Amino acid sequence: MLVQRMRPFTSTIFAEMSALALRTGAINLGQGFPDTDGPPSLLADAAANITGGINQYPPGIGVPALREAIAAHQARFYGRVIDPADVLVTTGATEAIASAVLALCEPGDEVVAFQPYYDSYAATVALAGAVLKAVPLRPPAFGFDPGELRAAFTSRTKVVLVNTPHNPTGAVFDAGQLAQIGALAAEFGAVVVTDEVYEHMAFDGRPHVPMATLPGMAERTLTISSAGKTFSVTGWKVGWIHGPSELVAAVKAAKQFLTYVSGAPFQPAIANALALPDAFYADLGSSLQRKRDLLADGLRAAGFTVFEPAGTYFVVTDAAPLGVTDGAEFCWRLPELVGVAAVPVSVFCADPDLGRTLVRFAFCKRDEVLDSAVDRLSGLKAEL
Ligand code: PMP
Ligand code: GLN
Repeated sequence: MLVQRMRPFTSTIFAEMSALALRTGAINLGQGFPDTDGPPSLLADAAANITGGINQYPPGIGVPALREAIAAHQARFYGRVIDPADVLVTTGATEAIASAVLALCEPGDEVVAFQPYYDSYAATVALAGAVLKAVPLRPPAFGFDPGELRAAFTSRTKVVLVNTPHNPTGAVFDAGQLAQIGALAAEFGAVVVTDEVYEHMAFDGRPHVPMATLPGMAERTLTISSAGKTFSVTGWKVGWIHGPSELVAAVKAAKQFLTYVSGAPFQPAIANALALPDAFYADLGSSLQRKRDLLADGLRAAGFTVFEPAGTYFVVTDAAPLGVTDGAEFCWRLPELVGVAAVPVSVFCADPDLGRTLVRFAFCKRDEVLDSAVDRLSGLKAEL
């Protein structure tokens, strides 16, 4: 019964691998969610809001305190002046992405995105009846080829979907790369939709550069982020999108008929959390950087080629040195082999050959969980 355009998207790799991990008792380094909760003050605020009666529909565009806090966060970290009236609160970054694409693309219009991509991108483009033009990011650095990027643009390009820091590769685009993307968007009259959910997870002193801070880009950029990542509350599903008034108004038209409103008791709590001191944000990055190193060392020792991520909480490896020729088949076997679950990168690609032997592991887990995953992986060669 399912419409043709959604048939490739009947299940998600995250659900499948999490279910497999549960069935086999494997350590789940597949789906990216932290195994500790966010800041105690945030949790307490949300609980107090629920018992305190903040449980009915909030305003469609989001509660004023949260929209103001999102604007203040942009000023504090990136020196950007945002009018809170141009901020729209969404049900996670996922809904922000979907609303933007549905609002901006007519059937047959084209969306440029980089592959591998977060899985919802392709499904959302399909829902809109639009066409995905996927530009490869290749190891080891997962940068793009400027010629391939240009070739993806046509007169039908309406949206360029950018994600930095990038899931799954961990690439962090620098200002030069963003400027190349921005220049093409301007030349072809496209809107840039930039997914910056990992904005506070860039490592080794690298800055996160928001697309909208580049000269001339604020006027054609919609910026997306999410409390799920920054505050380790992925189950709350509160995200946001902001940009020029007329673009946000278009996105709002779609959003209001997807979910209408989002998470009333969570919104004021997240508003307070956005104002947490600098130490909170610095600890988030430094603790993840340490976890990256812990898992990356273990994966190297286990025989994988490791592409060290510059950001996010994912590390992409190549399993080819272990004799693996199909990463998807390998991920289905890995929990039985050593009791660890991961996800194949090929499922994030329009062209599966691009990531055929690549495998993604998440490191947003407690140190003892990562230690035990590393210990289990050390026996992998013997099992293969
Ligand atoms: N974009 C990217 C790149 C992600 O990794 C995620 C995480 N699941 C999302 C969007 C979705 O975020 P949310 O859970 O806030 O919908
Ligand atoms: N963003 C997370 C990941 O990439 C979780 C996504 C999901 O479960 N839909 O693993």
